[in-house]
Amino acid sequence: MDSRERQLASRIARSQKVVVFTGAGISTESGIPDFRSPGGLWSQYNPEDFTYQRFLSSKEARVKYWQMSTTLYEILKKAKPNAAHRAVAELERLGKLDCVITQNIDGLHQAAGIDPHKVIELHGTALAVKCLQCDLFYERDPIQERISAGEEDPRCDTCGGLLKPATISFGQSMPEKETREAFRRAEASDLFLVVGSSLVVQPAASLPLVAKEAGAFLAIVNRDPTPQDSLADTVIYGNAGPVLSRVVEDLRRLLEADQT
Ligand code: NAD
Repeated sequence: MDSRERQLASRIARSQKVVVFTGAGISTESGIPDFRSPGGLWSQYNPEDFTYQRFLSSKEARVKYWQMSTTLYEILKKAKPNAAHRAVAELERLGKLDCVITQNIDGLHQAAGIDPHKVIELHGTALAVKCLQCDLFYERDPIQERISAGEEDPRCDTCGGLLKPATISFGQSMPEKETREAFRRAEASDLFLVVGSSLVVQPAASLPLVAKEAGAFLAIVNRDPTPQDSLADTVIYGNAGPVLSRVVEDLRRLLEADQT
């Protein structure tokens, strides 16, 4: 364990409101590719083909979207929480977690056992499907069965509107309640921990800045550099699973020592 990991554990021990902000990088160790690493999803697909506007305006784009999304969903469905998700869940058990704000759509924080009310999903979830006309939500599996049976551009049973996975695409508005809540919690945090995010997707990438400006200790755990590393109080480069496991292990030791 290095000195930065030790420093992070001791800062968490002294903090009351820890907000963990996660991106696709926390789930790569569960076998889900991120977008921007070499071999990531954007090296296989062109993001411009999957904007919200194209989904709305062209059947061809919707068919392509459902094909890409089905491939990703098959990976997500099989994925299990990894050591990093478990370490974040352990922060909750140790009474240190205010909330998780995630850009991920894979549901793995909840699968690791975190109270779902403490997980703010900024980019929606791939585990549900939404009607864009009447806002009805569907479970994902039955819709996938319809896709497998040959429906290429599924429609709402109730109103005939377009169905889309309940995730936020480029060009689609962010969910208002979740976005407001994420900024509020970032501002109120005393330690803001970024895990596995390239910090380039807005407005999510503003959250660390908001937290830092409001006085939080800003920590980043990421495999590669981010544009906000120079603003952070500490940056740990590495794989989230092993790094967070060591930090939380040390935190547990510090908290136990405090009680004796
Ligand atoms: P990103 O792909 O832009 O960046 C991921 C970052 O994680 C990179 O900087 C990389 O260095 C780092 N990383 C990769 N593996 C890591 C590991 N094991 N440990 C530590 N760091 C690691 O991801 P983003 O910033 O989350 O933004 C991409 C968008 O893609 C988000 O909006 C998200 O909704 C979506 N997305 C989600 C999933 C998912 O739900 N698992 C997967 C792919 C994309």
